[in-house]
Parts: sequence; structure tokens; C-alpha cells
Amino acid sequence: MKVDARSMLAALFVAGAATADPVVTITPPKGARFFPGQRFDIRVEAKGKGRFSATMAVDGKCQGFSSPRNACPKWTEPSATPDGITPALYGGFNLRGFSSNKPGTHTITAKVTDDEGTTTAAATFVVQAPRPGHGGRTRNVIILLGDGMGAAHRTAARLVEFGATGGDPNGYLAMDGFPGTGTVITHSLNSIVTDSAPGMACYTTGNHAQNGQEGVYPARMTNPFYYPRVEYMSEYLHRVKGTSTGIVSTADLEDATPAANAVHTGNRNAGTGIVDQYFDERNNTGLTVLMGGGRRWFLPKGQYGSSRAAESDYGPLPGDLQAAWSAPAGAIDEGRDLLADFRNGGFTYVSTATELSAAGTPEKLIGLFGYGNMNVALDKIAKRRDPSRHGVVDDYHEPDQPMLDEMTAAALRVLSRNKRGFFLMVEGAHIDKQSHLMDAERTVGEVIEFDRAVGVARKWADKLGNTIVIVVADHECAGFSVIGALRGTVAQLGSLSSDADNLDPDPAVAEQPARLAMVGTYDSAAFPKYELAADGYPKTYDVDGKILFGFGGNADRHETWLTRPLPIVDSLLPSSIKAELAEKGYSPSPPERSADESGFFVRGQVPGDQAVHTASDVPISAYSTGSDAWRRFVGVQRNTDVFFKLMEATAGSAAGGDR
Ligand SMILES: [Zn+2]
Repeated sequence: MKVDARSMLAALFVAGAATADPVVTITPPKGARFFPGQRFDIRVEAKGKGRFSATMAVDGKCQGFSSPRNACPKWTEPSATPDGITPALYGGFNLRGFSSNKPGTHTITAKVTDDEGTTTAAATFVVQAPRPGHGGRTRNVIILLGDGMGAAHRTAARLVEFGATGGDPNGYLAMDGFPGTGTVITHSLNSIVTDSAPGMACYTTGNHAQNGQEGVYPARMTNPFYYPRVEYMSEYLHRVKGTSTGIVSTADLEDATPAANAVHTGNRNAGTGIVDQYFDERNNTGLTVLMGGGRRWFLPKGQYGSSRAAESDYGPLPGDLQAAWSAPAGAIDEGRDLLADFRNGGFTYVSTATELSAAGTPEKLIGLFGYGNMNVALDKIAKRRDPSRHGVVDDYHEPDQPMLDEMTAAALRVLSRNKRGFFLMVEGAHIDKQSHLMDAERTVGEVIEFDRAVGVARKWADKLGNTIVIVVADHECAGFSVIGALRGTVAQLGSLSSDADNLDPDPAVAEQPARLAMVGTYDSAAFPKYELAADGYPKTYDVDGKILFGFGGNADRHETWLTRPLPIVDSLLPSSIKAELAEKGYSPSPPERSADESGFFVRGQVPGDQAVHTASDVPISAYSTGSDAWRRFVGVQRNTDVFFKLMEATAGSAAGGDR
């Protein structure tokens, strides 16, 4: 009899799979570290067949699960869908809101049985004791997060704002003046290249998250808002010390960076649920100031500019999650008037720069200055310089937006009312967003705007005392670089005809475009000079001999070396406003080739139409008053280390005592 070897093998393989023991994953993942008392969810998850049952112990001591609820010592009622929120073929068991005060390495062991076998698995986590040193206790924590801001972004802003002469800068950025400077390694749980969600969350939880996720560990659950949580710094400090929380961003407030300070979700794009959670769990964070864009999430569905939708919301949270995290259930409520809820919750609402400056010092403050992301500094400043002229900000329906330094000052006025201290995160969001879009001039303007907010924070740290301020990025964006400067004048550049199709890979048409001859490298870059207006921003970026910027992680692009008259359409705007902008001639994505205007085609190295985040280390700068906590940030560090250093500063040291 002839036997088909392949089918024999296949049969063996299937037979083997049919009797496999369950595959068990324990959360938190390997390498997790916690500040003493910091809370987190433990989850035992198994892939297998049939009915699952499980037991779990920490350091050999049996722990009950909170879902499905069972008590130690023994699991006695196996269930086909153990916690009710785990998809078919998986069994999930959770212990919500666990914590340990005992420093050292701890071991979680779990035993899971399904219809075909039993698996025992183990994982460790570390409770990291605060390391002593550096004097008095820090009361206020300020994180200034320049999204996507690498070393070259800082260099670019310094050169444009101050210039250089004979090898020395003519001036320094506010962040340059911070004494504690180091670098940060920015990887996420599942990649060398992080996105903004884990990029921010690692600073605010001390734990790595998976890309696209914030304040949670990855899990297989039916809703991303159910994922196992880890406590944020804002929550810990509010719970233990009674601090207030402020979140300020130029982005839509649903965006990953602001949300990764207060919102727990496995889907950074679930805007309705994210923005609801800021409010619904405000008593966990002590949320007192919330400012940025994203008004679209605060307006009931059907109202002009609303983006609220059932698909991006979450229904009732699991009962044990609600209980362990003092979280209201939540509801699918696209018709919710969230802005009204904030006002009824005691928040003063402002929607323009004028209203913000007139708001004084309310008890709580919410500012929404855009339907999606706020506009960038370059376009906001253009309107301020010529209010009578119709500008980009008018097309975005937001003619009167505050600058980030004004928002920061307002936030600090309100937060400093709490004598127990505060946690404030301020994000310069468009450093990243404009780098993605390969819009060099708008990128540089954002760094200048962000640095002014840094200056404000430092002044407040001096005034308040016992405050730590760090300036850091979540990751680098775009492989941004200062490659040289324009040889010759902007007029000469403008007179060149388009060579949009040059550098085509077809050798018959591959010739160096005349435009490349105008890129001055090394000696011919010399020392470009910009002129600042009274508002502190360059009068124009298109000066003769202007600095030229490159993008190492770029998509195909059309490069003119000149300021783009219009920004690329903000991708987070409600679709109605996007449609209006398209009619007015705004481009939804960076142009790749254009034969109608001067400029040339640059072949990209990455797919898609935007530049990408890179794995480059990013600079960190620290400043502190009332202690030398800034010293902790000198050197090379993991992104998760930053959390522990900030928490250690708030713990102070016995030797230094309170000052
Ligand atoms: Zn980012």
C-alpha cells in the first residue's frame, strides 16, 4: 500500500494539536516594574479548547480572581467563557487592582486546565524601591513632551531662533538651559519603533505598552477598554498625595499623548470612549485642567463638528474593573453632551485665546480650541500678525487660538491652587505631526512654540519650589535633520522651472535637477540668519540662504525648499470640515509629485505618504527646584526609567527630608 508521507505528517500534526495543553500568557509581561504600591491588573490568559479553569499565586500565596470571582485555595467551577469578556478559544482570568509594597522580584504562577490538558506557567515582576538621594521632596511634576522631538529638531529651532556666529550659537533654547541632560531609549513592548501611545505611557506608568495602547497591557478581550490596567502617575499621586492633574496639548485630546496620562485603552483611536474617560474617571486623576483640540468629541452626535460614534465608545466596564479602579460603568452614548457634563462638573469652559486670558483662575478649566488638532504656530501667528486677513485658522473655524505657552501659564495658575501639588503634562504635538508631513517650516515653528512653554514652566518651578520639570520626546519623528543651507537667494530658487520628474529611476531621465545645485553643504551652508518679529517668531522662514532640512524616514515627496502656503489637512478634523478644506484647495496628504509648480521629486524609503517615527534615542532635559532631582536624568536611560525617577523625586529621600 502506498502511503503519502505528507498526509501522514499532516495527520500526526493534527493529532498532536488535538491533545495540546493550553498555551498560557501571564500579564503583566516579563520585565514589568512597579513603584511600591502602584496598582495593576493581573491576567491569566490561555489559548486552548473547551472549558477552562485556573488557579494563580503570587510568591506562592494563592490569590483569588476578581473575574470570574473565585476564592482560594481552589477553583471549583470551570466555565467555558471564564470571565465573559474573552473571545472564543481563549480563557481569561483576572485579578484587578493588585499591588505590592514589598521591594524585590515577585513571581506569579498560574495553572490552567482545559479539556485537553493542564499548563503551569510563571512570570516575574519587580517592585522597585525608591533610590535615595538628591534632597527634598518634589511636590509638583511637569512633563513637557515634544512629540517626535529629536536632537535635530532642537538644533533647528536654536539655529532659526538665534543663529550662530563663528561656530557658537548666538543664543540658547529654554530647554538647553536645563542642567540635567541625558538620552532616552524609546522602544515599545512590541517594537524598536514606538508610536505615541506607549511612548507617553512608559513615562507615566513605568511600563511598556504595545503600540497603539496606553495605560494597559495587551490582552485578548472583547473591548480594548477592558484590557488589564496599570496605574498612571496622575492616578497614583492623586490617590496617595491628593495632587491635581493637568493635561495640555496642541493635539486633539483623544490623541495618544494626552490620553496616555489618564485614559486606559487598548485602542488609541477610540475617541469617544477616550474623551468620556477623562471625565468619568476624573476623581481617579484629580483632573483639574484639560486643554487642547478635539471639540468634536465633546459635542453630541448630530451637532455640527461632532465625531462621536458608538463604534469608538465603550459600554459597561466589567464589574470587577469598576470596583477595583473606582470607575463608573460607562455607556455607549454618542448623543452625550460631554461639554455640558464638564461644565456641570465645575469646569469653566473657554474656546478662544481671548476667553482663556479673561478666565482668571477658576477652580477647574477646560479649553477646547479646535475641532480636531489645533492649528500650528506658523498659521496661528500669521493670523495674529494680520487679523483682518482671512487665514488658515479661519478655514479651520478657529480664528482665535492660544499659543502653547499661554495655555501652559493658564494651566499652572489653576493647578498651583492645590497646595498638595500637581501633575502637569504639556505636549507640543505638531513637532511630530508636521515632521510626518515633511513640512519643515511648520515643524521648526512648533519647536519654537514648545520651547516658550518650557520657559514658562521653568519660571513657575522657580516660583513654586519643590517642582521638577522634564523636557523629553516620546520618540524621534521622520529622521529630521539639518542638512545645510540654501546657496543663493529665494528669488533664484523661485525662478527655477519644475523638475518634478527628475531623479526618476529610469536612467534616461535621471539627471541632477538644477535645484540640487542650490543645496549648500558644509562650507557653503555657512551661518544662515533669520529675523524675528516682536512676537518672537521668524518674520519669514524663506530667507536668502535659509536652512534646508532633510527627512531620513521619508515617504515620496515633492520638495520646493519653500514654506508651503497651506498646511496639509489635519487628519483628525471631522469629515465635514475636511470636505470644506478640500474645496478650498488644501491637500489631504503631502504632495508626492507636482508638475505644475517649481520643486522636485524626492524618492522616499518608506511606504505610504508620510514620514515615519524612528528608533533614534531622544534627548531629555531636567530642571528641579527644592532638590537636585534633575541629577537623576543625566546619562542614558530606558524610557520606563523616567517614570521611576520622577516618582522617586516625589518620594524624596530620608536624608534630604522635606524642604
Ligand atoms: Zn509621538
